[in-house]
Amino acid sequence: MDYRFNPEDEEFRKEVKAWLAKTFPEDEAPLKMETIEDRVNAYRSTQKKLFDAGYAGIRYDKKYGGRGGTMIEEIIVAEELAPYGATHGYGLNAIGMGMAGPVLNTQGTEEQKLQFLPKLLDGTHIWCQGFSEPNSGSDLASVSTRAVREGDHYVVNGQKIWTSSAHIADYCMLLVRTNPDVPKHKGLSYLLMDMTLPGVDVRLVKQLTDESEFCEVFLDDVKIPANMLVGEEDKGWGIALTTLMFERVMGDLNTANAFMREFHRILEMAKDVKRSGKPVLENAMIRQKLAQAYIELMVLKYNGFRGLSEVVQGGVPGPQGSIGKIIWSELHQRMSELALDIEGPYNQLMKDSAINMDDGFWQYTFLRAKGNTIEAGSAEILRNIVGERVLGLPKDMARAALKERS
Ligand SMILES: Cc1cc2nc3c(=O)[nH]c(=O)nc-3n(C[C@H](O)[C@H](O)[C@H](O)COP(=O)(O)OP(=O)(O)OC[C@H]3O[C@@H](n4cnc5c(N)ncnc54)[C@H](O)[C@@H]3O)c2cc1C
Repeated sequence: MDYRFNPEDEEFRKEVKAWLAKTFPEDEAPLKMETIEDRVNAYRSTQKKLFDAGYAGIRYDKKYGGRGGTMIEEIIVAEELAPYGATHGYGLNAIGMGMAGPVLNTQGTEEQKLQFLPKLLDGTHIWCQGFSEPNSGSDLASVSTRAVREGDHYVVNGQKIWTSSAHIADYCMLLVRTNPDVPKHKGLSYLLMDMTLPGVDVRLVKQLTDESEFCEVFLDDVKIPANMLVGEEDKGWGIALTTLMFERVMGDLNTANAFMREFHRILEMAKDVKRSGKPVLENAMIRQKLAQAYIELMVLKYNGFRGLSEVVQGGVPGPQGSIGKIIWSELHQRMSELALDIEGPYNQLMKDSAINMDDGFWQYTFLRAKGNTIEAGSAEILRNIVGERVLGLPKDMARAALKERS
């Protein structure tokens, strides 16, 4: 595949750039982004503007509120919008946009698509993903949250954990057990849960970074209407896997864009910070690490393009999406360590210090990036997937290879 943009694509990029410059002028007072409420408000207002201008849901059908556009247009819009995350809340609903939307678009009923896709695209609904449980993370098929069909409802009881954004979400993609008497992969179902239903109790979990982005979700006799089932009852495992594949492939391009901005931030810092009177950038070890990070960012970007072209051709991404997730999660940890190396003794100073560097961003990122190799599938599990499902290695051999590495 040729990944260069043709003249029409470049014309479209100019149009998007011009719209962004007009809609979000640089000299306008910055949006308030202090609290989570501020960020949600910023996200909703930015997303609504994108929706009204036809820049939300680029590849979705117009009848669901999309643009009916192409993959290339989607990539261009994502690239141009990337800098607006920190200032305008763009990307806050990554779970909704990257997972709920694509899953509903490919697996949802017509009624579900019409009900949910326009409200996702215009910023009304924020989504969360209720998969993991205290005893079901890597072994997701062992989910035990129970859903029992009673008339036109499912009655759901159980507990989810690490549910990112549950405290701000309107809906949840919920993986539940509908049949406990069959092999574990065969008794799961996939429900769409309104987070305001009686019996849904969301509790914040405090993280290493001192913030609370994810939650425990307790479900006590929650009645979910039966028309909120995606696909067939007991066939939810396939849909859950599709969700995770979308999570990984969309993650590659979004993270490649976001981390490229972080890379330039590190590069600028390496030019500014001096050690023994010379810019740190002149240090050969630092230069090597910067070059290596840039190379891996390019690998991530083109791997993301490869995954997206697979989506365009086949509708859903394959297990190759795991490769990019391994690259970005480990790269992000190394990039934040490199930034701390450049800061030298100042790297002990957090955001609240008056003499910190780069507003304590790298101290926060260093701590937050620890979760990157766990969320969306741990690095070990993803290596198993690449070994078994991409390279076709026998299961035992992949495990043996993993043991050898550690
Ligand atoms: C920041 C963050 C956000 C998250 N957001 C969400 C969310 O929104 N929704 C959601 O449902 N979940 C979410 N999670 C949960 C995440 O998906 C799980 O933490 C992850 O799948 C690992 O599961 P676990 O924590 O139960 O660890 P475990 O599965 O208990 O694994 C523990 C360790 O054992 C290793 N291990 C386990 N099995 C194997 C094996 N077969 N071979 C080799 N090694 C193995 C793992 O790699 C890991 O190192 C989030 C997690 C984080 C950190």
